[in-house]
Amino acid sequence: MYRNTDLSDKSKLPSGLYIVATPIGNLQDITIRAIETLKTVDIIYCEDKRQSSVLLSHYSISTPLSSYHEHNAEKMRPVLLEKLQNGSSIALISDAGTPLISDPGYKLVSQCHDLEIKVITIPGPSAPIAALSASGMPSDHFYFGGFLPAKETDRRRCLEEMKNFGHTLIYFETPNRLLSTLEIIKSSLGNRLVCIARELTKTFENIRRGTADELLQYYQSEGVLKGEIVLLIKGAEEKQETLNPHMDQALSCLLQVISTKEASSLVSHLTGMSKKILYDRAIELRRNEDEE
Ligand code: SAM
Repeated sequence: MYRNTDLSDKSKLPSGLYIVATPIGNLQDITIRAIETLKTVDIIYCEDKRQSSVLLSHYSISTPLSSYHEHNAEKMRPVLLEKLQNGSSIALISDAGTPLISDPGYKLVSQCHDLEIKVITIPGPSAPIAALSASGMPSDHFYFGGFLPAKETDRRRCLEEMKNFGHTLIYFETPNRLLSTLEIIKSSLGNRLVCIARELTKTFENIRRGTADELLQYYQSEGVLKGEIVLLIKGAEEKQETLNPHMDQALSCLLQVISTKEASSLVSHLTGMSKKILYDRAIELRRNEDEE
């Protein structure tokens, strides 16, 4: 299940693009393999050199550092690809967390695959996953929507589109838009359970859960503190659709004179019950009748 890498032999690092996750706040949240990789690659590309220098100097990493961010990506991508094709080992890091998760790098990684350049993942922290795992929200399925739009109408539309989604919703949000977003959740999705995961792994980490209304009241009275936020919303409750004896009776009568599809469609129309559930039940009733 596990594989061990010999981290002492620095000459063995194969050429390729290393996608290296870095801390989302606490400098200690970095893997041994990430540190060794950053020490050993030929060059590290980061979003903001000033930001990444703090991390690199903390771990005495002196590998050359260069920039790859959304404003120079088009220009830099061919440069990186050429280096990789010439046998270099390159690490890509972002300001925090896992590169490419609402951070630059997607086109670069995609082109590496097209050109058969090796892509190696060095996994580690990521704010949405850290938030989900600490939120107590259902976590077996979820939807990650990145940053919610800045414009209120777009934000409302974006959330309304997910109204019937039955699993946890995860978004990045900013403190200055939080109250407005909670209002939208309450009015458009209903008074659902929400979790605000703020400043994870940092000094003022705070994970607060409540209904949209409770959190709205809390932040209205306390004020929204600055910091980085992951917002989680509980998925839509599944409507419990249960067949009742009247539906069975109606189906049985109709099955004498019309097809399974027509009977289930008609009862669905009359009762509002799911056509699929009624169709499955109609097949069952037909089978029972044939067996009798
Ligand atoms: N790639 C990063 C990752 O894997 O975590 C996410 C980058 S995205 C540009 C930055 C957003 O992530 C922030 O605006 C905030 O919403 C969220 N975020 C990052 N660090 C966080 C933290 N320590 N606590 C809460 N949210 C955080």
